[in-house]
Amino acid sequence: MSAPTTMDTLPTTVDESRTAFRSWLADQREDLEQFRTNGGDITHVFERLRALQRMLFESGWIRLGWPEEVGGLGGKPILRSIVGEELALAGYPPPFSFATQEVLGPAVAAFARPELASLVLPRLLRGDETWCQGFSEPGAGSDLASLRLKAVRVDDGWRVTGEKIWTSWAQFADRCVLLARTGAPDSAHRGISAFLLDMDTPGIEISPLRSMNGDEEFCSLYFGDALIPHNRLLGEVDGGWSVAMHVLAGERGAAAWQRQIWLRTRLNDLAIADGGATGAAVVGEALELLVGLRLLSRRTVRALSDGRPVGATTSLDKLAMSTAEKFLFDSVLAALGADVVFGGGDIAEEWRTDYLYSRASSIYGGAAEIQRNIIAERLLGLPR
Ligand SMILES: Cc1cc2nc3c(=O)[nH]c(=O)nc-3n(C[C@H](O)[C@H](O)[C@H](O)COP(=O)(O)OP(=O)(O)OC[C@H]3O[C@@H](n4cnc5c(N)ncnc54)[C@H](O)[C@@H]3O)c2cc1C
Repeated sequence: MSAPTTMDTLPTTVDESRTAFRSWLADQREDLEQFRTNGGDITHVFERLRALQRMLFESGWIRLGWPEEVGGLGGKPILRSIVGEELALAGYPPPFSFATQEVLGPAVAAFARPELASLVLPRLLRGDETWCQGFSEPGAGSDLASLRLKAVRVDDGWRVTGEKIWTSWAQFADRCVLLARTGAPDSAHRGISAFLLDMDTPGIEISPLRSMNGDEEFCSLYFGDALIPHNRLLGEVDGGWSVAMHVLAGERGAAAWQRQIWLRTRLNDLAIADGGATGAAVVGEALELLVGLRLLSRRTVRALSDGRPVGATTSLDKLAMSTAEKFLFDSVLAALGADVVFGGGDIAEEWRTDYLYSRASSIYGGAAEIQRNIIAERLLGLPR
């Protein structure tokens, strides 16, 4: 493969970024061709996406908007918002762990000690490592502030005992953004600290769990006195709630931007599936929901890029995202029916997997009921 060309001059606007990235895509068409197929065994999928990620890193595209100290090229984060979109329009997958980068990366950049951030972030951006998010526990999902995994301060760091669940792709992850109870058991959100943990730390047991689409995406994590060094603390002791909120703003906001791009490509697939069996009215309604999501999400991505607070408004994005995603795949099931349920080919398999995964969209990142509660109480000022 020839070396990917690098940017001659840094773009300063989204339009400039888009135009320059399009021309890079055209120049690299031959080398990018290998990334068009995205099926197969998960280890191979990860390898392929990692290679694409590296190519985008070497050529600078996914370094846009990250500070130079952490391997970035500077400028505003919005400059890289077009990367996933243009890749999708050209028929390629999103960069490897793009969602993780936009969800966990900014929080680590904001809260880690500078020497830690400059060590780990370039590795994440280049696809050399992947990270996972250790928030949920049995009994502490929606009510995250009640989490019980305990971290006790000792001379050389923090000793951690307890359990996490639903940790996505933890079996492949090199590091984990972990929330632990460092205050009294009833200290709620005031007694939680955040850490960046190495997943090969002795004392962590990882058990993959199979979800209904057949993937072993989730894991249970068991901590038996695992030691986290002091320098892995993110933010302040007992200040982990701020880190969690930063992560959730990314998960409900920036990740929704990436998701709407992919949903739009699946709507295009649906519109032409089975000779247009879906019908214009349904396609039109799905498009309306996706355009609404895009506008909401664009506002959030711009605010995050400018460093403006997004507050509870990301709940609107998350709710709009799960509404659009479920409508789209309910429409797939209605239009393509038996083929989605029983079909044997690759296309039927892909619809089936995506339909099943769409059910999770109103659960991860905070369930739909929780988003409605936040919207009602914090945005509309309704009583609890
Ligand atoms: C695909 C997927 C990937 C995930 N990845 C991760 C990950 O990487 N890391 C991680 O930490 N977690 C992850 N999660 C877990 C996710 O964050 C939790 O599932 C979610 O927060 C809900 O928590 P719970 O499952 O404990 O459900 P519960 O909190 O027990 O909720 C069960 C039901 O009760 C409703 N409910 C609960 N409280 C209220 C209330 N006060 N008012 C109204 N309704 C309420 C909920 O809306 C929901 O419908 C993932 C989940 C999924 C589905």
